[in-house]
Amino acid sequence: MADAPPSRDAFDTRAVHAGRAVDPATGAVAAAIQPSTTFERAADGSYPRGHYYARVSNPNRLALETALASLEGGQAAAAFASGSAAALAVFQALAPGDHVVCSADAYHGIQRELRELMARWGLATTFVDTTDLAAVRAAFRPATRLLWLETPSNPLLRITDIAAASALAREHGATTVVDNTFATPVLQRPFEFGADLVVHSTTKYLGGHSDVTGGAVVTREDSALFTRIRDAQAIGGAVPSAFDCWLLLRGAATLPVRVRAQCASAGRIAAFLTEHPRVHTVHFPGLDTHPGHALAARQMRGPGAMLALQVRGGEAAALAAVAGTRLFTRATSLGSVESLIEHRATMEGPETRTPRDLIRLSIGLEDADDLIADLERALG
Ligand SMILES: *Cc1c(COP(=O)(O)O)cnc(C)c1O
Repeated sequence: MADAPPSRDAFDTRAVHAGRAVDPATGAVAAAIQPSTTFERAADGSYPRGHYYARVSNPNRLALETALASLEGGQAAAAFASGSAAALAVFQALAPGDHVVCSADAYHGIQRELRELMARWGLATTFVDTTDLAAVRAAFRPATRLLWLETPSNPLLRITDIAAASALAREHGATTVVDNTFATPVLQRPFEFGADLVVHSTTKYLGGHSDVTGGAVVTREDSALFTRIRDAQAIGGAVPSAFDCWLLLRGAATLPVRVRAQCASAGRIAAFLTEHPRVHTVHFPGLDTHPGHALAARQMRGPGAMLALQVRGGEAAALAAVAGTRLFTRATSLGSVESLIEHRATMEGPETRTPRDLIRLSIGLEDADDLIADLERALG
């Protein structure tokens, strides 16, 4: 499985073939779903087929982990039951007394893990605007072990310079993690810029159909830290089911074509919104007015398919626009085939820093003209 022929090297080819092989026993082209929780030992007590208990490993999870490591260009991956469980495993691999520097607009659930769960374990965190490298530098302490970046960020789509920030982390002996959920490896491969770990909520683009919850940690190279993340996975047990892994591997095959089509539509929708009189700001890295545009062009292979707009008239106008859509589905989450629209501040709760007049869009695979017509109606 892992040893695909060398010609199968380009990204789109790996998306289809990494982690997959024709079943030698049956000739089946699609992988079987293996529900067994336990695996037979040989007479001498060994496990010649590699698996012994499904919490620790199973064939579908191994296939998914092989594919994710290949797509990110990393050495290994560990799949989890959610993106949040993947992030928690990274934090649990640190020790009480350690210090984390984290993007101030990282996913709100990850901020809650640091503020509410890990603070009680003795992990300290400084939240900074990681687009400001001087602020990142100033946040490091002798006990800093981890720099957590999310780029593009949520929901303002701000762009952090992964190469410059990870160089600062290296100077301070800290590991750099990039939450690559929004960009996906189709558009951004953080290991090319010096990151050490990549985290995904595979619930989003990797799965791509709003029907599976999952997460992963991918490592550039084997390390003591990644061994502790594997321990959090195997001992802690927040693992995905065989069926979830099967769905995610199936999603990976179409990831490149989905993301490219979604990016193209997002670009057209961003251009339409920029011209709209009811919209005062559009946050989309593909626009040359976006503060991270030049950096995104260097660091990413496309602007992504997430965008945010701020409307005139404050929260009431934003809620009215969200209520007026027919094709966009009013729901949180992102990265699926159907387009989603969300009033982000009311989703994130009272302590949010997200502007009250902001609407977040996840662009799906519908006809872009239909999506534009729906927004035109809703904003009108
Ligand atoms: C959704 C999301 C997460 C959390 O993932 P879950 O699968 O919902 O636990 C983490 N980071 C980002 C950027 C996300 O969008």
